[in-house]
Amino acid sequence: MAYVISDECVSCGSCAAVCPADAISEGDGKYVIDADACLDCGTCEAECPNEAIHPGE
Ligand code: SF4
Repeated sequence: MAYVISDECVSCGSCAAVCPADAISEGDGKYVIDADACLDCGTCEAECPNEAIHPGE
C-alpha cells in the first residue's frame, strides 16, 4: 500500500529529495506519490516538516 500526501503539503519538496524510488513529484498545489512506484518504505513520512505524509489505507 502506497503512502499518500495530504492537503497539509506546502510543496517544499523535502520528500521528493529522499524517495529512493523517485516516486514523488510536484502536483497541482501539493506533491503527489505515484502509488505504483512507491515501495512503502516510509522514508518520506519521516522527512515531511508538516506531517502531511501518511500510510495509505
Ligand atoms: Fe518513496 Fe518510500 Fe515515500 Fe514510497 S514511502 S513515496 S518509496 S520515500
